[in-house]
Amino acid sequence: MKQTFLIELSVLTALVVLCIFRTLQSRKKIRGSVLFVLSAIVIPLLGNIIIASSESPVVCNTGYMLFLMGTNLVLFTLIDFSFQYCAFTSVNRRVMAVVAVVLAADSLSVFLNNFFMHCYTLEETVLESGEIYYVLKSGLGHYIHLAISAVLIFMIVGNFMWKIVTTARLYLERYLVILLSVILVGLWEYRIVLLDRTVDRSMLGLAIGGILLYFFAIEYRPVFLMTALHELLVANMTDAVLFFDVDGRAIYANKAASEMFGITKASLSSSAALLGDEITGSEFVENGSRVDHDFRRQVEIKNGEETRYYDVTCQRMEDRRGNYLGTFFGIGDNTQVERERRESLYRQTHDLLTGMLNRETFIDRVNHILADEPDESFVMLLSDIADFKIINDIYGRERADGILQGIANAIRRTAHEDTVYCRWGGDQFAALVRKKNIDPEGLEKKIHASLKKGNEDNVIKFPVVIHAGYYAIQDRSLSVSAIVDRCRLAIAMVHDDYQRCVGVYDDKLRQERLWEQRINAELPGALSSGQIFPYLQPQYNSRNELTGAEVLVRWQHPSEGFLAPYRFIPIFEKNGMIAKVDLYIWEEACRILASWKGTKRDGLHLSVNISPKDFYFVDIYETFISLAERFGLDPKKLHLEITETVVMNDAVENINTINRLREYGFIVEMDDFGSGYSSLNMLRDMPVDVLKIDMAFLGKTSQPKKAELILNNIIDLAHQLNMLSIAEGVEMENQLEMLKQMGCNVFQGYYFAKPMPLEDFEKLAA
Ligand code: C2E
Ligand code: CA
Ligand code: CA
Repeated sequence: MKQTFLIELSVLTALVVLCIFRTLQSRKKIRGSVLFVLSAIVIPLLGNIIIASSESPVVCNTGYMLFLMGTNLVLFTLIDFSFQYCAFTSVNRRVMAVVAVVLAADSLSVFLNNFFMHCYTLEETVLESGEIYYVLKSGLGHYIHLAISAVLIFMIVGNFMWKIVTTARLYLERYLVILLSVILVGLWEYRIVLLDRTVDRSMLGLAIGGILLYFFAIEYRPVFLMTALHELLVANMTDAVLFFDVDGRAIYANKAASEMFGITKASLSSSAALLGDEITGSEFVENGSRVDHDFRRQVEIKNGEETRYYDVTCQRMEDRRGNYLGTFFGIGDNTQVERERRESLYRQTHDLLTGMLNRETFIDRVNHILADEPDESFVMLLSDIADFKIINDIYGRERADGILQGIANAIRRTAHEDTVYCRWGGDQFAALVRKKNIDPEGLEKKIHASLKKGNEDNVIKFPVVIHAGYYAIQDRSLSVSAIVDRCRLAIAMVHDDYQRCVGVYDDKLRQERLWEQRINAELPGALSSGQIFPYLQPQYNSRNELTGAEVLVRWQHPSEGFLAPYRFIPIFEKNGMIAKVDLYIWEEACRILASWKGTKRDGLHLSVNISPKDFYFVDIYETFISLAERFGLDPKKLHLEITETVVMNDAVENINTINRLREYGFIVEMDDFGSGYSSLNMLRDMPVDVLKIDMAFLGKTSQPKKAELILNNIIDLAHQLNMLSIAEGVEMENQLEMLKQMGCNVFQGYYFAKPMPLEDFEKLAA
């Protein structure tokens, strides 16, 4: 009998020690309290082993003391555990202090039993098996001990009950399992203590209670809790979650799924194609609502105006043996993120004012298209608004922006669907068009029509003029920017043309441009290094006497050779650099005149050309006066050739300048008379000394009689207006004779001499 009890006790003690070791390995927070309880339980267990195994009352008494005091310690640790486990941290300390004092007093009382015998006495009993066992006979002290124990156990039970009542139902299980263990053990204890008094086996219950406590606190994971948590998690996820069974019926949809796709309880069980093919994908639908493999994809669903974006995950569900259980869909609504992503992409790739692609993106696309379709012919177009800066200044940014938007819309409206276009920058739009879809004339008409409409719609009072450059892309090695540059060159060709607005690029045009850029850059060096110098073309009077010469510029170019003025003068006239050339030539002419002073050539004059542009860039009056003074010249020796354009451009001011120059003494000649438009009218307002008749009058004509008549009258008119007349371009003797007959005063032309270097002229006039 004692033997069995001892074995039971030893086994349980070993188990409790095992639990202690297991607990030591745990990382849970409650670990400390559990260790405390388990360790405490070992003490009364040892006490009980002593009681059961001893044959002497003294040793047995020690066992009982150990047992009773040990149970006190167990109670203390249990109370600590209950507070920790229930997380009643705030009350912990104070209550624990009181409990400690009470239990310590009780333990003292147990110890004092050695002297007063007020708790228990030991009674030697012979068991049925014949063994001697010392049974505890309770005294008042022991009853008090039991009562204290009972109170403390109720306290523990109360703690858990309170927790169970106040905590979320979800967590009930955690506390319930412990509470039930405590109650069970408690009942077991009191049954033994109160009913079966022969051998006190209460320790068995306590040990089992410790083991249960270890199990529930350290090892056990609340099953219901986890399931419930999982369920809650799925139900409240922001992603939609759906399950389809083996037959493709939807059997579960969480809250998000119901909201996202309007799924109701009724629709859930009724339909297999609950989500629609777009989301579930054809795999799901075709295979009778099964998927062969898991997939994940982005789905875009248009619903009227609105587009929504979903991130769909589909997984087949299998049990452990690989049997198909159904299909799981997780669907995230990415709309917000995707919209933001798209918007930022749009901002990066588009011009925000017009909604067209921006330059960088256009370049990218064009490069791809040209690389992908090497055999297709493409045209690059560039449009440019004439005087957009002025529109901006006068009408303000807003209206100007409106024009840009209008043009962007017109391009969108009229462009072929294959065409890629962009806002190249500022007021320029570029487009890459398939050659078969466009021709320059068609484009011309299109632009005219659009502009007419735009101008009629009265977008702006100012008539908007648009130029377009057309380049049929030949050289694919060019960068897109270089291709667009060629369009810009083509625009430059029609820039001043009021009839045409589409310029077509050709290579000659580019060569010209390159030439222009080159000589513009080279001019300053050419002037300072003497590459530019004057040629003189002699002029004769009616008695064939040399009277002077016209000064004509020449450029001895180091690589291009000898350049006549037509190669560079028109270019310099465009950008005003002509003034630099002229100032130089005028000064050279004055230097020559000055060098002739006191020689045989003293009586000769020199005529210099004044470009209309000079009037913009130079103070003509100041310049000539200071030249004449610097070189000490008689102004009569310097003839100034002007053209009628000068007077047309800025009549009053320029006429004034010319008058003052004449008053000073310079001779002013009207060059190229008869080649302009309003020659006759001009003579009325224009005070000049000499009329220089254009060589066109001497050219070949089918009506020689009429030409002669006109020429004759012009010369007469000059004389009547008190002007002298010079004929230029005299090449034949009969021309000279005829002009002499008509009374022309001075003659210049190849008949006498071509323009020549200064030395040659000086020999001629020696
Ligand atoms: P322009 O003022 O009418 O000068 C006369 C041009 O006619 C010169 O050409 C001369 O070589 C050419 N010429 C003279 N006699 C004959 C002839 O019998 N037959 C033919 N076919 N041509 C003849 P060039 O020197 O090439 O000058 C061309 C134009 O360049 C000039 O026309 C003038 O407008 C401009 N130019 C020349 N030098 C200067 C200059 O120093 N400054 C400015 N601003 N313009 C200049
Ligand atoms: Ca001239
Ligand atoms: Ca002339």
